[in-house]
Amino acid sequence: MNEKNPHTNALEQLTRVADLLRSSYAGNEKRFEKALELLREPEQLLETELSIEMDDGSKKTFTAYRSQHNRARGPYKGGIRFHPKVTVHEVKALSTWMTWKCAVTNIPYGGGKGGVVVDPDELSDAELERLSRAYARFLAPHIGPWIDIPAPDVNTNGRIMAWMIDEYETYLREQAHGVQENLLATFTGKPLELGGSEGREEATGLGGVYILERIAEKLSWKKPEDITIAVQGFGNVGYWFARHAVARSFRVVAVSDSRSVVYSEKGINPKTVLETKQRTGQLTEDESARMKPDAIFGIDADVFVPAALENAITSKTVSQIKASVIIEMANGPTTPEADVELDKKGVLVIPDVLANAGGVTTSYFEWVQNLQGYYWTENEVLSKLEPRMKQAFEEIWTVHTKKKVSVRMATYILALKRVIDAMLLRGTA
Ligand code: NAD
Repeated sequence: MNEKNPHTNALEQLTRVADLLRSSYAGNEKRFEKALELLREPEQLLETELSIEMDDGSKKTFTAYRSQHNRARGPYKGGIRFHPKVTVHEVKALSTWMTWKCAVTNIPYGGGKGGVVVDPDELSDAELERLSRAYARFLAPHIGPWIDIPAPDVNTNGRIMAWMIDEYETYLREQAHGVQENLLATFTGKPLELGGSEGREEATGLGGVYILERIAEKLSWKKPEDITIAVQGFGNVGYWFARHAVARSFRVVAVSDSRSVVYSEKGINPKTVLETKQRTGQLTEDESARMKPDAIFGIDADVFVPAALENAITSKTVSQIKASVIIEMANGPTTPEADVELDKKGVLVIPDVLANAGGVTTSYFEWVQNLQGYYWTENEVLSKLEPRMKQAFEEIWTVHTKKKVSVRMATYILALKRVIDAMLLRGTA
């Protein structure tokens, strides 16, 4: 398989990081190489065809996956994506990145990821529910609070998690495995009424803004209002990032979605843009002010925040980016080729596994609350998030400055070391 795909990208990264880490395992070389070999593929890859009944009585099948990458540090954790472009390579790569993300934020999980090849916009609500339930039933024997804990990802949400937890509990009841256990902790990203956590919705964007504040400190940016930001993607992550950045006086000059870019040199108000988008489907009502989505790359801003889908920053788009800092809020938004270019240009890139880890950290808080049956206020949740993001950033920054490697490399070095150390302690490698 020579063709580049997200999984080959993830493997290339692994090889490069391993080269930087190898010397720390002098005397343990064989076990280090064995651990690396194990980390190249998921521990378990589940694949099936889900057959559901459509509203017109016909049957349709959808390919579905769950990749369980590594559980040395704890149960597998990762979202479920509903998207027509889901592939097995993508799911494997995303589960690998989840392993690094959980390790780097030091939460007690390994990596997992699921996906269904479907365009949910083409399904009615009833069809979406049947598909979600069929997927949960397929996953049921392989998940649980101490085994694998799914969550929402692109095109899935709290409502879908509610259907899935219900189907999962129904399945266990049928199997007579007993529902007396506390099962809510099997899924995170649930609605508040079903054991979801306060603060989860905004946690990923807010976590990225905590990182932005750390960068401002390291780079001695004196006034946030002088720092301009362009955000690609105005969904959950992009919106909350923009909103919390503006709340801290940073100047968000542009945001984009799949239809257009809206720009204002003075700074935009994310709340107003969201209200317009909800009402009209567009970021602005002024047709003449709309630019094509890719114009976001050429916006003159100090910070560029990809918060849409993967492979946004490519060898084609990278040359247009003027920012000196990139905060990767989307998963895998930069191709390896573009990453090399950014490195050459001296752009400071905060990698996805750190930048967007606020989401999984708050999922971890949700799991903790479900297991103890005791729920925290939004303030309690968010005040627990900030020190964790800060600590992860500082630990990575230390590796970045000491080893003189990019922040991405520093992040992976720290993450890989934690995972390999856990594997060596367990004796799995
Ligand atoms: P979302 O579906 O809410 O939003 C995605 C946004 O991207 C939408 O505004 C869409 O219009 C926009 N978009 C799509 N194609 C685009 C294009 N070509 N140009 C500009 N915008 C485009 O999804 P989300 O939950 O905000 O997730 C965004 C990214 O963040 C994904 O990569 C996801 O994996 C990652 N992420 C999300 C979370 C979370 O908590 N939601 C956590 C970690 C990582």
